Amino acid sequence: MSTSPSSLEQRKNLLKQIKDEVIALSASPLQAERVKNKMFPVIGEGDHFAKIMFVGEAPGLNEAKSGRPFCGASGRILDELLASVDIARQSVYVTNVVKDRPPENRDPLPEEIALYAPFLDRQIEIIQPKIIATLGRFSMNYIMEKFDLDFELEPISKIHGRSFDVNASYGPIKIVTFYHPAFALYGGTGKKLLLEDFKVLKGLA
Ligand code: URA
Repeated sequence: MSTSPSSLEQRKNLLKQIKDEVIALSASPLQAERVKNKMFPVIGEGDHFAKIMFVGEAPGLNEAKSGRPFCGASGRILDELLASVDIARQSVYVTNVVKDRPPENRDPLPEEIALYAPFLDRQIEIIQPKIIATLGRFSMNYIMEKFDLDFELEPISKIHGRSFDVNASYGPIKIVTFYHPAFALYGGTGKKLLLEDFKVLKGLA
């Protein structure tokens, strides 16, 4: 079983290394776009010892302008969802599969996920969360496949709010699958479903 980097200093250094590598990721067309637009990569933010890691899809415009994950309209929904289960945002770690913004907020391409996901894999090994909460179908698909849950994969409309027990390199963890917070912005039942699903996290942070 792999052991976690034990000090905050070690974790900070390892995460900083990831940031430096993403900044210089010349293999990615999204990096060139970011440089051209004078924007920032979005690596992740939160408690380096968090029990819960939230994984979204990719930065939007607000995130790319600030370098912070979930700081726009979807972020306000995420804050509300966390507050609904008494979890402080500072106590969790929030990141994305893809660390640079896809143009016009289009869906990330498979080759972009393949380029950026190894950074997420390293973040998981550094922070070693007990719960990985996926936000949206792209992170759900990536994380479920990574942890050999392919056989449980179904459309997100069927498996949102579910919790799966898996073994990470550092021990047993749970994968929890949520709709993307943006789903609550479209009206309809999105927010109600997300609020209901988030109850699975109550008392777990
Ligand atoms: N949507 C995401 O998936 N991630 C962010 O950081 C912001 C919006």
